[in-house]
Amino acid sequence: MLFDPRPKDNLKDLFDRESEISLLKNSLDSPLIIIIGLRRTGKTSLIKSVLNYTKSTYIFLDMRRFENKEYIVYKDFIKSLEREINEITRKNKDLLSYLRHIQGVQVMGFSVSFSWGEEKVEISDVFSELNDWASEKGKTMHIVIDEAQELIKLRGYNILPSIAYAYDNLKNLSFIVTGSEVRVRDKFLKLEDENSPLFGRAHVEINLLPFSKETSVRFLEEGFKEQGISFPDSEKIFDILGGNPGWLTYFGYIYIKHGRDEEKAILETKRYAKRLLSREFCNFTKEGGRDKRRYLKVIETCRKGCSWKDIKNSLEALEGREINDGTVSDIINNLLEYSFLVKEDRKYMITDKLLGEIINV
Ligand code: ADP
Repeated sequence: MLFDPRPKDNLKDLFDRESEISLLKNSLDSPLIIIIGLRRTGKTSLIKSVLNYTKSTYIFLDMRRFENKEYIVYKDFIKSLEREINEITRKNKDLLSYLRHIQGVQVMGFSVSFSWGEEKVEISDVFSELNDWASEKGKTMHIVIDEAQELIKLRGYNILPSIAYAYDNLKNLSFIVTGSEVRVRDKFLKLEDENSPLFGRAHVEINLLPFSKETSVRFLEEGFKEQGISFPDSEKIFDILGGNPGWLTYFGYIYIKHGRDEEKAILETKRYAKRLLSREFCNFTKEGGRDKRRYLKVIETCRKGCSWKDIKNSLEALEGREINDGTVSDIINNLLEYSFLVKEDRKYMITDKLLGEIINV
């Protein structure tokens, strides 16, 4: 069902995205695939649908769980890995005989426990054994790190050397890394930083954009048709909510669930989006000790697109004093880096229409 609000895990429920599906299918034996897209554009849905369709074996590490944490430590990451590996060992008991050799791994019944203390498990050892197991089976094991920018907050441990080691040596492992922000490429993987373990590694990149107006309208019409409903206002809904598949899906779901009340469904969708976006925005300001009022002012100013000068003027009006150019540029760059803004033709725009809704947080 197109309007199912959970991530899709079946290609038949995934609307459009033909070129992204085919690129991902054709790249599955690449050592590193990066999927970049704003929140709720369908990254998880794309990956799960394609990996299930190709009957691939994969470990799905959902880093969203760390969204509200100020920082994370090795134990947080290794426990996520442990949990997901135990999902696989349940169906593939022979994997246990590979994992039991690793220092810091305890096998108990049909599950493993990873130590994070003195004798902590080395992640590259885990990757090695997963690779050997996959190689023995003649398949590729995919390690998905979803919303990987959260790992920038990992303290006291660097996971990149283990990924670089796997990239170079473990031919039966493939990494699929997703992120809502440009930060995932530049600040987490650091592919263009010559001091980074992953510097210069070739990779496949897939960009998931929000739906265009035409695709959004088709999506809504198709979703309602599935439910035997003729819905005349799809264009209007796009004009209000924008083309983020997550918001459109939620709108369709609520509209059907709550008595086909369009106004109520719009309101509920805005409330839902506002909650998610506000949480991200608050984490963003809290994380960097950033002045929320200033950042909200810039979001407000950029609702319909504006120039650098407009932003500077609006900040000066807010504070009733001059603000130096460096500060203005820093604020704009931070918002660009976290994908709250985009720059097009020298104009700055909010990336998601509903970001305008967070102004009153
Ligand atoms: P992300 O991982 O980018 O945050 P999700 O895959 O969780 O996005 O998708 C967000 C919501 O939008 C989910 O409800 C999902 O079902 C829906 N969705 C996203 N893309 C599509 C699509 N192409 N077809 C159908 N539903 C989609």
